[in-house]
Amino acid sequence: MKIVLLGPPGAGKGTQAKSICNRYNIPHISTGDIFRKNMSENTPLGIEARKHIDKGYLVPDDITINMVYERLQAEDCKDGYLLDGFPRTVKQAEALERFLKEKNESLTVALLIQVPREFIIERMTGRRVCPACGASYHTKFNMPIIAGKCDICGSDIIQRKDDTEETVRERLDVYKAQTQPLIDFYEDRNVLSKVDGTKAINEVFESICNILGEKI
Ligand code: ADP
Ligand code: AMP
Repeated sequence: MKIVLLGPPGAGKGTQAKSICNRYNIPHISTGDIFRKNMSENTPLGIEARKHIDKGYLVPDDITINMVYERLQAEDCKDGYLLDGFPRTVKQAEALERFLKEKNESLTVALLIQVPREFIIERMTGRRVCPACGASYHTKFNMPIIAGKCDICGSDIIQRKDDTEETVRERLDVYKAQTQPLIDFYEDRNVLSKVDGTKAINEVFESICNILGEKI
């Protein structure tokens, strides 16, 4: 099972990724989480990534592609994986395609979670995340059981620095210009499936499981 999750920032990719990866027992590869871990540890990659992420811009393709290539070579990716937040440009999608081709493999599905722009600002400004395990919460739509604490690992949850209204608007523009073309890219390759991401979290998950059930 090799899944790509597509959709604008705030579509619910991270939220659904956790449930999908639990159910299908595949690693959740979130490029955003990998960058954030590097930023918190002040690695050279983290220092470079921060320059772009805090402004809402994409990290350059060559850096991102190398990082993902390395991650996909790991032992736990042998039987499949879910990519959340990658690819985000046509260049990245072509790189992934080359990577798969070299191994005689193909994508199972590119799942597009569709959410109109008017939902996104409220979702993103109310988002709270766990810096330790990456779980995503919301002040109104998905509150943790104990206020301020992650349900999964108990860490204090925080607001991401790039979840301000101004940065979210920039990220939406970047999505439209650079990532939206991937919808046609995957449609042309007959691997695109769409789900309505405006529904409740459990209903979106149910739709995704129905799609995945048909693919395996
Ligand atoms: P992405 O990874 O696509 O940027 P997240 O999964 O982090 O998005 O979700 C963004 C915010 O919206 C989070 O605060 C999350 O709790 C909330 N959220 C996710 N899915 C839904 C949904 N179906 N309905 C309402 N809120 C949601
Ligand atoms: P996310 O956690 O997916 O919302 O990603 C947070 C930020 O990390 C994005 O706004 C980008 O700046 C950066 N990022 C994540 N994935 C990629 C990618 N595939 N290509 C370039 N930048 C990325």
